[in-house]
Amino acid sequence: MSVAYPIDLHTHSLRSDGALAPAELIRRAAEHGVRVQALADHDTLAGIAEAQAEGERAGVRVIPATELNTESEWGDVHVLAYFVDPADAALEERLRWLRDNRGRRIELMVEKLNALGYTVSLERVREIAQGGSLGRPHLAQALFEAGHVPTYDAAFDTLISKDAPAYVSRVGLTPLEAVRLAREHGGAPSLAHPATVDGLEELLPRLAEAGLAGIECYYGSHTPELTSRCLRLAARHRLVPTGGSDYHGRGEHGADLGGVFVPPETVDALERRAVR
Ligand code: AMP
Ligand code: FE
Ligand code: FE
Ligand code: ZN
Repeated sequence: MSVAYPIDLHTHSLRSDGALAPAELIRRAAEHGVRVQALADHDTLAGIAEAQAEGERAGVRVIPATELNTESEWGDVHVLAYFVDPADAALEERLRWLRDNRGRRIELMVEKLNALGYTVSLERVREIAQGGSLGRPHLAQALFEAGHVPTYDAAFDTLISKDAPAYVSRVGLTPLEAVRLAREHGGAPSLAHPATVDGLEELLPRLAEAGLAGIECYYGSHTPELTSRCLRLAARHRLVPTGGSDYHGRGEHGADLGGVFVPPETVDALERRAVR
């Protein structure tokens, strides 16, 4: 088993589109040598309690987080909300609305796929999700299983990515709304994998103005040049440079647990930016 870096601030479990149960994910990370880990499932905090309980056993500090995927003209803008409270009922209500919208969107995509001749059942997609926050990765898995695509990743490339024939846009938050939601609930929002944003330099000052606290500079697919560029943007807008693997345990998306170097001062700096 490979040795990992001790801090990983971006991981997913099967409470959203990851493949491992929260406890299993933490155990695996601990075995690799991870000591501080954020569980950042999409639009849900349902896995946090289980992850934290396992973290206490395994010696991993688990930071509560959620990743909010937004809808806008700015490409794929995902906001990681750190240090939010799983017991915050008002936040949970907003997250439930986002999850309901996810469900309806996947239903529409299944209908489109079936009309295109790629037969998949919504029941099977729900089974794959195992009660987690539904997403396109579950659909990709179902398409792969049914033999409609040669690989999991090919499902995205040919059928369900933006501009692909079965894509349906999201009903949800704009990037600014996602930053504000995290802020209103005492969290520290960080812009995930900035390379997927269109018009980063224009969007970033607006997000910073709305309360963005960090930007994910350290990310598996970043070149050193891109990391440097993000670090310069972080300095310019007074943002904490964050980082993580985006581990899903599914397909080729994301690095391995603890696979990305994150500087040790990051966690305290981010926590100081969370408003309580
Ligand atoms: P959704 O929130 O349902 O739109 O699904 C978006 C999620 O799909 C992202 O958070 C990633 O986990 C995953 N994803 C997006 N693009 C790809 C891709 N090209 N290959 C594999 N996974 C992807
Ligand atoms: Fe994901
Ligand atoms: Fe993301
Ligand atoms: Zn992610």
